[in-house]
Amino acid sequence: MIIHTKAITDNVKNELARLPEGKELFAVVKANGYGHGALQVAKAASEGGATGFCVSNLDEGVELREAGFNQPIVILNMVPIEALTLAIVHDLSITVGNKEWLEKAAAYLKERHLKSALSLHLKVDTGMGRIGFLTPMEVIEAVALIQDSTVLEWEGIYTHFATADQVDEMYWKKQLQRFSVVIEQLPSLPKYIHIGNSATALWHDEKIGNMIRFGIAMYGLNPSGHALTEPYPLKPALELVSELIQVKQLAKGEGIGYGKTYITDKMEWIGTVPIGYADGWLRKMQGFSVLVEGKFCEIVGRVCMDQLMIRLPHKVSLGTKVTLIGKNQEEEIPMQAVADQLGTIHYEVACVLGTRIPREYQD
Ligand SMILES: *Cc1c(COP(=O)(O)O)cnc(C)c1O
Repeated sequence: MIIHTKAITDNVKNELARLPEGKELFAVVKANGYGHGALQVAKAASEGGATGFCVSNLDEGVELREAGFNQPIVILNMVPIEALTLAIVHDLSITVGNKEWLEKAAAYLKERHLKSALSLHLKVDTGMGRIGFLTPMEVIEAVALIQDSTVLEWEGIYTHFATADQVDEMYWKKQLQRFSVVIEQLPSLPKYIHIGNSATALWHDEKIGNMIRFGIAMYGLNPSGHALTEPYPLKPALELVSELIQVKQLAKGEGIGYGKTYITDKMEWIGTVPIGYADGWLRKMQGFSVLVEGKFCEIVGRVCMDQLMIRLPHKVSLGTKVTLIGKNQEEEIPMQAVADQLGTIHYEVACVLGTRIPREYQD
């Protein structure tokens, strides 16, 4: 796998150029940077002007801290109470979405007499139905609880949209309205107010907030799939390439792969590529194509755990590059096409590409 770090830097720069003066961009590098490699993505994003990061759990936050990143890091999830000391030690901000957790956290930390307070972002559930406070009253109570406590500190408030990537804006507006009501009723506001994921940042006029949580678009992928057009060209960062490790000519009527689901129907050149479902190149990719010397070549027979076979137009030398995602001469396989084949979204494709695939970073 080749990750083009300059694409990430450019996507961040291009987005920042559109944001109002002073609005910050936090790079979402959860799930190992959507499979791209969290540390390298974080570095590329900071070079583009990202001033903070979002991750999904403590381990991911600690990984960034241990690599030397000292920008603000928000964990977009609640963490186990017993792990809160770690959050404070590493200066990681935690999301809180209900009062019970908040009360338990306050009680736990009070007993421990740590030097710093736990930094919190309140999550408001305005219609995602996942985590978050549901009513303005609940948020007001949470704020009061934090402000009364010496072990807690209020750093942010946010919400998350369920339909920002859709053409119909009705539900998005309803969620925004609910969030606005919460903000208007609060007696004071924290340092960060953030509502934008990639889709919101690209396609909606968000009047509230001084930071965005920029994820998928930073990797150069259109959050909406096919539904909406990007306001500026996003540059895909990930290229998945392999090479031919065996090339052979088979007679008519030979079987390929487990279950011999493919049988040559004439003399055919068949190539073997060392990638399989254990790498996240799933069995449903049978029948899809890869690129060799700028030509589409069908994946024939079942995808194995570690290998797959393709039908070549003619004899091709061993070691020839095989492109599974990305450009090869004049042709291209976008990650979206792989998602379409699998009946899913490119977010999932990027995340399931296996950790055993070597990642190589280039400009
Ligand atoms: C993952 C996540 C994001 C990033 O979403 P993208 O669609 O990748 O931009 C933003 N906010 C929250 C709460 C998330 O969980």
